[in-house]
Amino acid sequence: NELPSDSNTANTRRQVTKATHSYVEPVKPSKPKLIHASKEMAKAIGISENDISSKDFLEIFSGTETYPKTKPYAMAYAGHQFGNWAGQLGDGRAINLFEVLENDKRWAIQLKGSGETPYSRQGDGLAVLRSSIREYLCSEAMFHLGVPTTRALSLMLSGDDVLRDMLYDGNADYEKGAIVARVAPTFIRFGNFELFAARQDNENLKKLADYTIKYFYSELGKPSKETYIAFFREVTNRTLDMIIHWQRVGFVHGVMNTDNMSILGLTIDYGPYGWLEDFDFGWTPNTTDKQNKRYRYGNQPNIGLWNLLQLANALFPLVEEVEPFEEILNQYQMDFELKSLQMMRSKLGLELEEENDTKLIQDLEDCLLLTETDMTIFFRNLSNFKKGNPENGIEIIADAFYKPEEIKDSISEQWEAWFIAYNQRLDKEILSDNKRQGKMNAVNPKYVLRNYMAQLAIDKANDGDYSLIDELFTLLKNPYDEQPEYNNWFTKRPDWARHKVGCSM
Ligand code: AMP
Ligand code: MG
Ligand code: MG
Repeated sequence: NELPSDSNTANTRRQVTKATHSYVEPVKPSKPKLIHASKEMAKAIGISENDISSKDFLEIFSGTETYPKTKPYAMAYAGHQFGNWAGQLGDGRAINLFEVLENDKRWAIQLKGSGETPYSRQGDGLAVLRSSIREYLCSEAMFHLGVPTTRALSLMLSGDDVLRDMLYDGNADYEKGAIVARVAPTFIRFGNFELFAARQDNENLKKLADYTIKYFYSELGKPSKETYIAFFREVTNRTLDMIIHWQRVGFVHGVMNTDNMSILGLTIDYGPYGWLEDFDFGWTPNTTDKQNKRYRYGNQPNIGLWNLLQLANALFPLVEEVEPFEEILNQYQMDFELKSLQMMRSKLGLELEEENDTKLIQDLEDCLLLTETDMTIFFRNLSNFKKGNPENGIEIIADAFYKPEEIKDSISEQWEAWFIAYNQRLDKEILSDNKRQGKMNAVNPKYVLRNYMAQLAIDKANDGDYSLIDELFTLLKNPYDEQPEYNNWFTKRPDWARHKVGCSM
């Protein structure tokens, strides 16, 4: 790998061949300030609560200083963006600082928004407070929801202004710059493999695969064709499991490009993501994808498969047989059906497997689409259902309706019919109402990071008030708990937030 011969040119934007990464130095922020840190994450990498407020913490995780004997680097990767080959991308605004081994776990720590790298292309390598708050809050919230994800350690202001086009008014504007320290066992993506495959650089392709397997899939054994196939199978399973979790909690990633697919099956790159409010398979938070809606909620499982196919193509030179890949991708489709059925059963509090469950679930989805119905509130409140009382069904979930005045005539009849079917189905289960409620509440979160909640935290933070970041962070640590003191967050999206979505840049 290339070492910078001259630190002035080391970060120059360019095509980087025959290398997995480039050494770069973070840019020194002019007035770094710690806004928030995750104590849980700090502890996991061996940083005590006291150390969080130290000068050392501020300097290292703002990029002001780097530890001696460490060599920060940006990774080279490529990817398919919105279905098209995009060539070399790479860490354009992420810099890996170092790795930590703690309690036998390996963690890579990287700064997002610490300046340009050889992979910055037209970008400035910086991040704004708005998108950094969104990534910081959401990645930790996802972790506490039990969704595989990269983590966040800290959120800092850089003290520098960053120029951005605000997507919704088209005007360029200065915004506060920020830096998030992100943490994951590794940030390697599908796109890292695609880069070398596209360049027919089999030597680095093999090196990367062997490295990934040695450190993150060591249970698969020594490098061999069989090992590479097993590796692809495991990545496929993890990717599917991650997407099933997204569907369960109503998370829409928004930019499932192959450069945003973690080789560990972690949710990575929190850009224009959003949470379903009214249940809608066609919804995407990504304003640049409103035409094709490629990354809409209901399409995430298909896109997972499409992305895995690109990874299979990239790994092909290591195996040189098509069938094993085909077999695994076919299995994904069968597993998806099974696992998503199982996931929906759990959301409904069903423990037995009945043949008609598929129909019950489809009928429910039809009902949820009749009129705007809040997904989170619906499933949470459904756990209040009492066996033998289907006539109370609508009342129990009524808070989920955005337009309650529409619940009459054929719409209420369709709901009533569904509750009768649900009640009959529950008759087959042995769990008491109480026990069923406990189980349902462990998979149907009460609190998620609704788009408007993040926006409120951003608006306050822009005025220098970080209290809402802390409140949401604390609330979202226990998304399945009742937390009655936070009941004001268990509510539908307010009307003003209806057409607003998050931004990624
Ligand atoms: P994303 O759509 O955020 O996954 O980013 C796609 C590619 O653009 C990646 O290679 C990023 O590193 C790069 N990128 C995004 N924003 C910036 C930025 N502000 N400066 C430099 N590179 C960026
Ligand atoms: Mg990305
Ligand atoms: Mg991004």
